[in-house]
Amino acid sequence: MENIDVNKIREEFPILSREVAGKPMVYLDNTATSQTPMRVVDEITRIYTRTKANVHRGVHTLSQEMTDLQESARERIRRYINADSIEEVIFTRGTTEGINLVASSFGSRFHKGDEIILTVMEHHANIVPWQLLSDRTGVVIRVVDINERGELDLEQYRSLFNERTVMASFCHVSNVLGTVNPVKDMIAFAHSKSVPVLVDGAQASPHLRIDVADLDCDFYVFSSHKMYGPTGVGVLYGKRKWLEEMPPYQGGGEMIGKVTFAHTTYADLPFKFEAGTPDFVGIAAFSKAIDFIEEIGMERIAAHEHELMEYTQQEMTKIPGIRIFGTAEHKSAVISFLIGTDHPYDLGLLLDKQGVEVRTGHHCAMPLMDRLGIPGTVRASFAIYNTKEDADAFLKALRRAAAILG
Ligand code: PMP
Repeated sequence: MENIDVNKIREEFPILSREVAGKPMVYLDNTATSQTPMRVVDEITRIYTRTKANVHRGVHTLSQEMTDLQESARERIRRYINADSIEEVIFTRGTTEGINLVASSFGSRFHKGDEIILTVMEHHANIVPWQLLSDRTGVVIRVVDINERGELDLEQYRSLFNERTVMASFCHVSNVLGTVNPVKDMIAFAHSKSVPVLVDGAQASPHLRIDVADLDCDFYVFSSHKMYGPTGVGVLYGKRKWLEEMPPYQGGGEMIGKVTFAHTTYADLPFKFEAGTPDFVGIAAFSKAIDFIEEIGMERIAAHEHELMEYTQQEMTKIPGIRIFGTAEHKSAVISFLIGTDHPYDLGLLLDKQGVEVRTGHHCAMPLMDRLGIPGTVRASFAIYNTKEDADAFLKALRRAAAILG
């Protein structure tokens, strides 16, 4: 933590100095969404007050400036994730839309009885789109289990592949357990069986360096709002060879070549998958969030968060009756827990009354909750702007809540 000036970083986030319940706010719900630095907010304001015009449609100056901003953001993101070309960077509304796009469009090549491998730790966003596909086509979903530490059963993963397997789709990092999955090895194994892979990077992209070339994934999806960027913007990376073969996901403006009532041709990549007016302001501002991350350095961000998580988790184990879900060897800065038989909502409310913002519930991972045999958890998660003082305030509030609940 020493070589990062977190107080300086916090100055970029005015929301962190607000109060909740008359107490200084401690924001520990970063897994749901992270806060946004002023440079991103300023960029949004600058665009709305100076440059807003629809992209790709006009010869006029504003439209061209806006198009340049959007397309520079695409190049910025391409570089950041180390994709080969900007044609492989598709803008979406978020991770959820990216997975729906792939399940719907890439999934249209699958047939009844084909098998798709998911894991029990998936977010609903990486379950339900495949179930919708299953309802339409009869594809079968196979599920990889976890061990008691919340790590994937890799032996079972490998054993699930057979001649009917057509796709594997799993998270890079679990939003509940924090487990960092060995996705590079998992992808290599799937490829040895000629099976393409989608990686849900929603929880990895804020905490790990993403290199899609090194991972060799076929698809990688993530959301801006979890990476200090604006809401409503996401990215789907796809290998060009797949994207070229895939039919469009949605129809409309921007994604066409020529339209007649007899026949319509489609635009080239990436626009083939970007029907309608995109959130061009959010996309442009997202590149400022990437600047923010790169300025600090992802490795330093991860080290800082990890140190906070380890410290907090260690202190939490001293609280009588505490159960922590997810103790993987490779773990991101997420702590899911329960105390005794107390309901997560009660704990969450008592923490909120002390200014501590954590998430409670099933975290859009009901199958995982069923697997763990619990209704939900309380989840605290860290970002670069969190401090040891935040961790201590959380621990103090938690001890008090535990005492009140008895
Ligand atoms: N996958 C995972 C692992 C997530 O944590 C989330 C967000 N909680 C999503 C997918 C969905 O992301 P979004 O709501 O931004 O589409």
